[in-house]
Amino acid sequence: MSLPVQVPFTARSLGRPIRNPLLHGLQCLRCGAPYPVRLMHDGCPACRAEGVHVGLRASYHAMPGRAAGSSIPMPYKTSFTLGEGHTPLRPMPELARRLDVARLCIKDESGNPTGSHKDRMTAVGVTQALDFEAHTLVLASSGNAALSAAHYAWAAGLACEVATYEDMPAAYARELDAAGARRFSFADNAGRWAFVAERVRYPGYFALTNYHLPALGSAPLAIEGYKPIAQECLDQGGLPDDILVPTARGDLAWGIFAGFRDLLAAGRIAKLPRIWAVEPFARLARVLEGGALDAGYLGRTAQFSTAGATVTFLQWQAVTASGGGAVVVNDDQARAARRLLAEAGVSAELCAAAGLGALQQLRKRDAIAAEAHVVLMLTADASRDPSWPDPA
Ligand SMILES: [Zn+2]
Repeated sequence: MSLPVQVPFTARSLGRPIRNPLLHGLQCLRCGAPYPVRLMHDGCPACRAEGVHVGLRASYHAMPGRAAGSSIPMPYKTSFTLGEGHTPLRPMPELARRLDVARLCIKDESGNPTGSHKDRMTAVGVTQALDFEAHTLVLASSGNAALSAAHYAWAAGLACEVATYEDMPAAYARELDAAGARRFSFADNAGRWAFVAERVRYPGYFALTNYHLPALGSAPLAIEGYKPIAQECLDQGGLPDDILVPTARGDLAWGIFAGFRDLLAAGRIAKLPRIWAVEPFARLARVLEGGALDAGYLGRTAQFSTAGATVTFLQWQAVTASGGGAVVVNDDQARAARRLLAEAGVSAELCAAAGLGALQQLRKRDAIAAEAHVVLMLTADASRDPSWPDPA
């Protein structure tokens, strides 16, 4: 367990966050319709009228020349932070040899302050909450997003309410309680999301994660928090060919895609890496074969962090626009991959190990070339994973 032992600054010392003057609003991922930045967003009304449920993304004015700083625009110039990001990219030459691929690197997100990639999204979400003078962060999560939100809210002086499953693992529940979050238990996703939807009807509540059915994804500005992963990968190891991303509703996959798309638009890279959404049972895979985007795709899995029955436009766009796809890795395959990672000295939550299983599948059918440079997103280690240790 990694509690944030140092708080670099608090909400009081930060003052009101300063927005990036290039941020001009939100835009529909599908039709491009523009919308203002507000505290709450319900996706694109124009697309909804056509029966398509689509989330929004941050939209920026063009950069005034290359000298304007980073090639990846972010919503805020000053952001609340506990030191997330700049995680290591670990070369894994022995694993690369075993999987018959030229280069394999692990982007180790377990080094973030609360131990998962979620901190990147939470930091920007908390910044937006402070910007709009919200008093409470509210979200539906029974795992890493909940812990991240609880710790960041505490550090920022915000309250935090978490809608969880009744069978939330005890380790997570204890840590939420220790961070002062209020827990509300529900039997299913519909109950959790209805709770959040009810809360955000009141002023001062900011919903960090999805609460819509059909699902739209997390708060649009917050998802921008994942974009710097693209720049970090480029700086630390050069441009990857393929990126394997454990995926539930696709916030992380889309954020990485969007970061590389910004780099492409700025002329910093010549092509997009392919994004592969790794899922525990067929959801996006079925949509890519013609299934409805807004259908429910039920399945059981021990891959706690990527369970769920919904598919979003976000993840569909990330894989189709990058030339990647969806890869189903079942629990047995993920456990076998976790053994390989453990032998290489890497601790992984089961859905992150599934990324290695996905690479095995993609190499077998030559969808990833032997010459490829591959990055595996290690979303969290095994320390809090309720499926760890694996049965002998
Ligand atoms: Zn639209």
